Amino acid sequence: MLRVTEIFRSIQGESTHAGRPCTFVRLTGCPMRCTWCDSEYTFTGGDHFSLAQIMDQVRAFDCTLVEVTGGEPLAQREAFQLIKTLCDENFEVLIETGGFVSTEEVDERAAIILDIKCPASGEAERNHWPNLDRLRADRDEVKFVVANQEDWDFACRVIAAHQLEQKASAVLISPAWGLIDLKELADLVAASGLRVRMQLQLHKYIWGPEVHGV
Ligand code: SF4
Repeated sequence: MLRVTEIFRSIQGESTHAGRPCTFVRLTGCPMRCTWCDSEYTFTGGDHFSLAQIMDQVRAFDCTLVEVTGGEPLAQREAFQLIKTLCDENFEVLIETGGFVSTEEVDERAAIILDIKCPASGEAERNHWPNLDRLRADRDEVKFVVANQEDWDFACRVIAAHQLEQKASAVLISPAWGLIDLKELADLVAASGLRVRMQLQLHKYIWGPEVHGV
């Protein structure tokens, strides 16, 4: 059984897949406590679903793209079987992970969007660095949520130290909602000349930051 906060269909709000129709399976629970977390409602509660029940709901939405997210989706052991089952049924699978849990056992057919926590998150000490060595340039993406100049400088150092422009299919720079001026971040990104991509969380602009399940 897996603990599930919500399963819904919407458009993908982030990554290079932004704008695409997508079914989201949002698993409950996260061992991290990022200061700017926008998913605190996933920390507790949720309902217990069997793998078959989850698959029934996913199939009913009839969407080729499925994202397994959280919370921290990889914190529940059965999530790995869910990912495999989705891949077996030929869904295009994205995993949005906070970067604390090893990605080693994730089915290789799934694409990973790996958060690298910056200092302002309060969780930078818990980045599981070996995950960066497993990135595949043809599908995996990394994401830095940037709240201030210190975060940006940290991101630039990590990008250089781990050759992320080459190792990942995209390096996403995402403003921490309400904490950094968008133009300021855009200027930093533009001036860097790096092979990175600034992204906005599309769903928050469409439905507002407080609305879940959209
Ligand atoms: S890893 Fe994600 S869900 Fe967990 S506390 Fe951080 S932002 Fe929230």
